[in-house]
Amino acid sequence: MTIKFYENYLFLEMGLYDPISFTQENYLDVSNFFLNATQLQFDCYCVECKQELTFKFESRVNNKNWVPGQLPEIQKTMLNSHKIPIVLVFKCQRHQSHIYTFSFRITGDKITKVG
Ligand SMILES: [Zn+2]
Repeated sequence: MTIKFYENYLFLEMGLYDPISFTQENYLDVSNFFLNATQLQFDCYCVECKQELTFKFESRVNNKNWVPGQLPEIQKTMLNSHKIPIVLVFKCQRHQSHIYTFSFRITGDKITKVG
């Protein structure tokens, strides 16, 4: 299975423990998305507000291996070094205390959502 590369798929539709592969062609986009991007957002039902709302990117945990601007092979190796998952944190735009988090393990040219 190849990656469907947008927020709604990765955060709302992608199943747990069902790895998807990335390729030589799209790993830089994947690196940016998981390790660097700050403009991520998606719309979904907030279980605390009890309505459909926008969740915007807030922070990222365990992307410390990311150093932008390296040679492609080094970047690919850095991307693949996340056996301990990267956690992406999003906040509900109505109440900042409403937080959704998503965890992704990235190793062996595969992304696995683990939480
Ligand atoms: Zn909310």
